[in-house]
Amino acid sequence: MTSTFLIVGGGQAGAQAVDTLRREGFAGRLVLIGEEPELPYQRPPLSKKYLSGELAADRLPFRHRAFYEEHRVELLLGVRAERLDPAARTLLLANGDRLRYDRLLLCLGATARRLDCRGARLGGVHYLRGIADAGAIRADLKPDARVVIIGGGYVGLETAATCRHMGCDVTVLEMSDRVMNRVAAPAVSAFFEAEHRSRGIRIVCGARVVGLEGDGRVGRVLCADGTSHPAHLLIVGVGAAAAAGLAQEAGLACDNGIVVDEYCRTSDEAIYAAGDCTNHPSPHYGRRVRLESVDNAFEQAKTAALNMLGRGVVHDRVPWFWSDQYDLKLLIIGLSQDHDRLILRGDPAERSFSVCHLRGRELLALEAVNHSKDYMAARKVIGERIPLDPDKLRDASIPLKEAV
Ligand SMILES: Cc1cc2nc3c(=O)[nH]c(=O)nc-3n(C[C@H](O)[C@H](O)[C@H](O)COP(=O)(O)OP(=O)(O)OC[C@H]3O[C@@H](n4cnc5c(N)ncnc54)[C@H](O)[C@@H]3O)c2cc1C
Repeated sequence: MTSTFLIVGGGQAGAQAVDTLRREGFAGRLVLIGEEPELPYQRPPLSKKYLSGELAADRLPFRHRAFYEEHRVELLLGVRAERLDPAARTLLLANGDRLRYDRLLLCLGATARRLDCRGARLGGVHYLRGIADAGAIRADLKPDARVVIIGGGYVGLETAATCRHMGCDVTVLEMSDRVMNRVAAPAVSAFFEAEHRSRGIRIVCGARVVGLEGDGRVGRVLCADGTSHPAHLLIVGVGAAAAAGLAQEAGLACDNGIVVDEYCRTSDEAIYAAGDCTNHPSPHYGRRVRLESVDNAFEQAKTAALNMLGRGVVHDRVPWFWSDQYDLKLLIIGLSQDHDRLILRGDPAERSFSVCHLRGRELLALEAVNHSKDYMAARKVIGERIPLDPDKLRDASIPLKEAV
């Protein structure tokens, strides 16, 4: 009897899982179910070159439709998976179809956190998670529009850079005391803040948005300290939450994401999960994490697919992330929590430097701004836990891989 593998979620992880399953010889029925109507596509350009119009929509999909046909992948797009019954091994779709599975992979991604203040439902208030959101922002963006962005994380700052590049007047409102507070060292935050300001973007830290005003459409953003910011449109980039609803309602273990083990298996042995929606163990760091990155979705999907085929592969990767803002490439390798010291290599004024997060002599993570050499060396040093000499590390003329 042929087995049926279902994959729910046609994003980064879903597309990769299909690829791996067929590449590794899975010959059974393979169905990819995606709520969005588009072929699985890359999200990173949505805040960058797709938003600015420099990258056409036909460049976003990972694969052409012909790939799925050639590999006998049944694409059910534009349809949401509504209910999961793990005991019966069935999945109910919004169109009423009920599919039986032998193995199920959940690649549900994350959903943008919504504003819940007064005026949050006014016109001109945007979120940025999918292609439809990017299209709606683009349709609303006029060259001299006043754009207010709530949230100074990756997505907020990348969007700010793109809107500025398109000639808009841009204000970023960040609640904490520095941009990229959750993901970057203070030196990196300060550097990016200065870069944005030098291009004419207003960045207001410590700004807590309490309401929006406007006549049908947003016209003004109000902050807790009594200040207000005029806006033609508002883009909200205040983070995302794991899309774990389908799993949770089916009784699978969930806790800030779908809980999976090191094999990407959920609390049900026939169901796997990968990507932004998972809470997974990181053997390297000895704790559970939920990550939102292309690398993590790609690698976890590969591992999950192999384990659906019974290969017994452990997901143990040092994660990495990137962000493009103007001509600046920020590369981050590793997870920085638990560091006990920070070491700056190089001079931010030269627009090429890195920040090392150390615990004792162990490098936990590194942030590299326009410095791919340090980033490449750090991959090896972190992965192999090679102890470093902090004094040598401080000297940027010594290559990182020699600071041992
Ligand atoms: C604007 C933007 C810029 C980004 N830039 C970067 C970057 O520069 N670098 C980086 O590393 N990462 C970046 N990311 C993050 C990266 O894109 C995500 O981490 C990655 O897409 C996660 O892949 P995924 O497959 O887990 O989820 P997704 O790609 O979000 O895919 C999940 C899919 O599942 C579908 N789905 C959910 N529930 C159901 C259901 N019940 N039924 C059917 N379908 C369902 C969703 O509609 C979605 O299509 C960015 C993200 C955004 C939004």
